Amino acid sequence: MDEIITQIKKAQHLLLASHCDPDGDAISSLLAMGLALDKLNKKVTLYNASPIPAVYRFLPAVERIVRHTEKAATYDAALILDCGHVSRVGEAYSVVSQIPVIINIDHHITNNRFGHIQLIDPDASSTAEIVYRLIKALNAPINKAIATSIYTGILTDTGSFRFSNTNQAAFAISQEMVQNGVKPYNVAQHVFGTYSLGRIKLLNLALDSIEISDNGKLSVMTLTNAMFEETGTQPEDVDGIINYARRIEDVKVAALIQEQKNGGTNSDKLRNFHVSLRSDGTVDVAAIAGAFGGGGHSNAAGFQVEMSMAKLKSEIITLSNDL
Ligand code: 5GP
Ligand code: MN
Repeated sequence: MDEIITQIKKAQHLLLASHCDPDGDAISSLLAMGLALDKLNKKVTLYNASPIPAVYRFLPAVERIVRHTEKAATYDAALILDCGHVSRVGEAYSVVSQIPVIINIDHHITNNRFGHIQLIDPDASSTAEIVYRLIKALNAPINKAIATSIYTGILTDTGSFRFSNTNQAAFAISQEMVQNGVKPYNVAQHVFGTYSLGRIKLLNLALDSIEISDNGKLSVMTLTNAMFEETGTQPEDVDGIINYARRIEDVKVAALIQEQKNGGTNSDKLRNFHVSLRSDGTVDVAAIAGAFGGGGHSNAAGFQVEMSMAKLKSEIITLSNDL
């Protein structure tokens, strides 16, 4: 922590980035850290490779997040947030890699400890929780805008205080953020209260796609590009859908296979997929994702793969033999 504070104080212009296809924690950590560094009179660039999902566009200063970077020499330091691997920042990866001080701030147990300085706490509920600690250590003030981001990051990464990463700090910090002016109902309405019709129709297709292994311990959902086209939805509309597959009685591991929009298509049978995994708490899905080259947390993990849909589905169903 001390070394990070020294480096932040020394830097004039910092590049802040979080993972592509961002979730609530990735966006909130980026915004909270950026707004706090503003208060310390730092020049900051907030970068994310992907468009911001509609449900997070209410966040204060969200328009500050850009999808391009200057050349590496522009920046004295990079703060990489919520990324288990530096390549998760997406397109700016090559620029980031050349920045002289790379600070890795994350809570993924599979973080590969990239960068020059690491602040990794797998026991933290969210990266937003770690960002909160860092802001406090920097003695930066927490205003309503910063509080709204921190609260949103904790709320979304803990699945509304339901997932196993929900800890005492999640409640304590959230309470402090509410004291700083956050309106929980307002945040909840934006994040969970309003869905596009397309998103509801996508949910319908996802539910309809559920398959269960013979022993009933593994469920698989499948989302294809045709389904996104039919419903006019985006990958951001998939957020949370896997939890329906996870909730099925007796299911220990749920998988969601999602065809990638810009996936490899050298043959129509070979496509790029993202696979999300969730566990009921008795199985370490980060280890399963790791075996496929991905990572995450023990109860929520993922990986990318290029193979035919039929082979992928059969490999996933086969995992049920070990459950
Ligand atoms: P999701 O299933 O929501 O995409 O991701 C669940 C968790 O797994 C997140 O913590 C995320 O960071 C991690 N994860 C998802 N996909 C990948 C991946 O392709 N590589 C790695 N290393 N982690 C991933
Ligand atoms: Mn996170």
